[in-house]
Amino acid sequence: MNQSINISESVKEFIIRSKGQFIDGEWVKCLNGFELPIIEPSSGINIGKLSEADIESVNKAVESSVQAFNPDSEWSNLGPSKRERLLNALATAIEENADQFAELITLELGAPLSATKHFEVNKAVETLRYYAGFPSKIHGDVIDINQDMGDQHFFGYTCKEPVGVVAAIVPWNAPLMIAVWKLAPAIAVGCTVVMKPSEEASLAILRLAELAHEIGFPPGVFNVIVGRGETVGNSLVSHPGINKITFTGSMKIGKEIHKKASDKLIRLSLELGGKSPVIVMPDADLEEAVPGVAMGAFANSGQVCVAGSRVFVHKKIADEFIERIKEFSLGLTVGSGLDEETQIGPVISKKQQQKIESYIDDAWKSGAKLHQKNLSKSNGFFVPPTVITNLPRDSKLLNEEIFGPVMTIEVFEDENDIILQTNSSSHGLAAMVWSESHRNIQILAKKLRVGTVFVNTPAFPPPSIPTGGFRESGIGRDLGASGLEGFLETKSVISKIS
Ligand code: NAD
Repeated sequence: MNQSINISESVKEFIIRSKGQFIDGEWVKCLNGFELPIIEPSSGINIGKLSEADIESVNKAVESSVQAFNPDSEWSNLGPSKRERLLNALATAIEENADQFAELITLELGAPLSATKHFEVNKAVETLRYYAGFPSKIHGDVIDINQDMGDQHFFGYTCKEPVGVVAAIVPWNAPLMIAVWKLAPAIAVGCTVVMKPSEEASLAILRLAELAHEIGFPPGVFNVIVGRGETVGNSLVSHPGINKITFTGSMKIGKEIHKKASDKLIRLSLELGGKSPVIVMPDADLEEAVPGVAMGAFANSGQVCVAGSRVFVHKKIADEFIERIKEFSLGLTVGSGLDEETQIGPVISKKQQQKIESYIDDAWKSGAKLHQKNLSKSNGFFVPPTVITNLPRDSKLLNEEIFGPVMTIEVFEDENDIILQTNSSSHGLAAMVWSESHRNIQILAKKLRVGTVFVNTPAFPPPSIPTGGFRESGIGRDLGASGLEGFLETKSVISKIS
């Protein structure tokens, strides 16, 4: 495996230029704070560092966003068509810098450049353009309230207003795309945003803030502070200047934030983890299902909230399906994300690698069968795509989110058992169905109690379709027109006419 790192001049310059925080339109370095190393996952090599925000920087970022949201501010008086232009201009600026964004993401996350550029960067651009269509179409209603009022006449209407200063907390597994899922609707309605990326993947989001400033976002409208969750994230969500928290990450941290937000009745949306079942019906088209199911589990090295990591295949086709999935998985090219031929990169960190390996080890100890490629020794954080069969029914692998390139396969005869298991799980993010029967598809789509059902396709996030979870997989929705709702308040005006 290639251990040398080839970093472009523009990315090297950005790593030197980025001083840790982008607040009020400028770089802010915290001299006394913790230093966050930037580790390239295919080599384990440290390629730079960022300074973590201290409490003064968190306060400064929130206060700057509070000022920018002030009713007399430039931002609050900008008008919807200017917000549309800014969102479109940011989309164009990302497109023009697509190679740089892809490299920044790959250097921290490890995902192949082909995926970071053609999937993640594209999705960020599409999402900005999608929400750029909304600002001038957001409006309230005129409501007739002249009921049993005698001679008195009233006039009533509602307005949709931005909720205020938004704290946006983002995970590492698709940093730019998820940052934009939060930024674009918040900006579309006129909020201001303080974003905290994951301490493991901050670079692309810092570049996004710098670019937003360059194309004309007023200072304070989009601030970025970097640092660990327990320090910077905690200070941000506890800050009295915040009106809304939008969080994407693990269930554990989501629940902690939920408690803090409920104490102060802060508006909150949560996009949390998943354990998404994949149901391969006996009439599935295996030509499509085999690569689709495999890449649905292994893309981004399985570090995807909607990864189809628990596969159920019908007994009638199980032997053929399992053989073909194993063959496909063994044929995948694993390597550095910076190499063009790589299909599966490393996982993000040593810690993540060890966590995934411990799950695989548990499976092996419980007598399951493992099918995985032998990889040559490397300092990188590689885990080969792994197919596990013959797992005992009580294995924790079947119920916990592994967040790695690991797929379990179980054989079923009656799909009602799977519906029951899915609907009684604490997870409820997504499910995938592979079938050529319209009737089977409609029945399963109706009965599965999850946020999104993907039919004959691995999961992907079109900006126009809401995404989110049932049960403990979250509260609220990102994306789609309903993704705007969490950033809006409804104000009613009642006025006497005569
Ligand atoms: P995580 O919960 O560890 O961290 C997410 C973010 O929260 C990071 O920025 C982290 O620094 C911050 N954080 C941690 N502790 C905090 C605290 N006490 N207060 C405030 N912020 C804190 O999750 P992760 O490991 O970065 O991401 C992986 C998880 O995200 C997986 O569970 C995955 O399923 C989930 N995810 C969900 C979706 C979705 O749309 N539902 C999308 C992507 C990822």
